[in-house]
Amino acid sequence: MGEFELIARHFARAAPAGGAVVLGVGDDCALLQPTPGHQLAVSTDMLVEGRHFFAGAEPEALGHKALAVNLSDLAAMGARPLGFTLALALPAADEAWLAPFARGLFALADAHHCPLVGGDTTRGPLTLSLTVFGEVRPGRALRRDAARAGDDLWLSGRTGEARLALALRRGEPWARGELAAVQDRMDRPTPRLALGQALAATEGVRAALDVSDGLLGDLGHILQASGLGAAIDAEALPVAPALAALDAEHRLDCLLAGGDDYELLFTADPSAHAAVLAAGASAGVAVTRIGRLRSAPGWRVLDAQGHDLTIRARGFDHFAGA
Ligand code: ADP
Ligand code: MG
Repeated sequence: MGEFELIARHFARAAPAGGAVVLGVGDDCALLQPTPGHQLAVSTDMLVEGRHFFAGAEPEALGHKALAVNLSDLAAMGARPLGFTLALALPAADEAWLAPFARGLFALADAHHCPLVGGDTTRGPLTLSLTVFGEVRPGRALRRDAARAGDDLWLSGRTGEARLALALRRGEPWARGELAAVQDRMDRPTPRLALGQALAATEGVRAALDVSDGLLGDLGHILQASGLGAAIDAEALPVAPALAALDAEHRLDCLLAGGDDYELLFTADPSAHAAVLAAGASAGVAVTRIGRLRSAPGWRVLDAQGHDLTIRARGFDHFAGA
């Protein structure tokens, strides 16, 4: 199977009518028409076999995850997806891999009305690079530098289950529980697109990002960009039932530094409390107030009595120790 046959068979689908796609796969460029007056939101993520996913990872889940992590970036900005491109390096044109990969990819793309509009295909070590295009109303994007001292700190869903799944898969000695109960949280993350758009439309919601490298590490990006600090109430962190069997220290590690969560971490003026809860309800996602932004730099994690907890966990850094 040649390159063009591969593209035609697996990736060249007609874009749905009525969306932003004027011209999709097949020409030198795709043509997208955003809603007049809106800004384009653009994000790229690369997934490399052996670093971001296991060699031999199930291709359907990989198709889902490759798009999900990119859509999660649009969600974190409050953007609505318009389409995406896919650059693919493949060791071989393997039908048994391509068909389920495309199935996982398009199932999520269809669910979010985000058509594939172009890409590039080459032979090489398995690498997936996606670029997503979205749109957002001017001035409404949820930027990392927009937090203010006194803002409430909010989290969608729950963190930690993907980290537990990784530990169970690796056989890390502290891990307890059934892999089946948590593996979808690692392999098939849910991009919080409806929530991101609802938050962008909510007065008083300010900064946001998606938690991919651990809650504390990613919180640090908001704090740095906004020139602020934060206090997290450890007791407020939502805990998945699957984490209940862990010892307290590893549970807190999972919650605060797990990684691969793809939940939204965002700040809002305290006066927006009810509106934030309503945005969560409209999107069908639980949202929890987990702390507060402060003008003093750095973060603190407080126990129920308001005392500082010692936190040894840090956000996952791909180049740490390298
Ligand atoms: P060019 O040489 O002009 O870059 P290509 O031969 O690389 O064009 O690709 C032909 C068409 O197929 C282009 O429209 C391109 O966007 C599309 N395409 C290539 N690879 C992919 C892919 N993996 N997924 C979707 N579209 C693809
Ligand atoms: Mg090309």
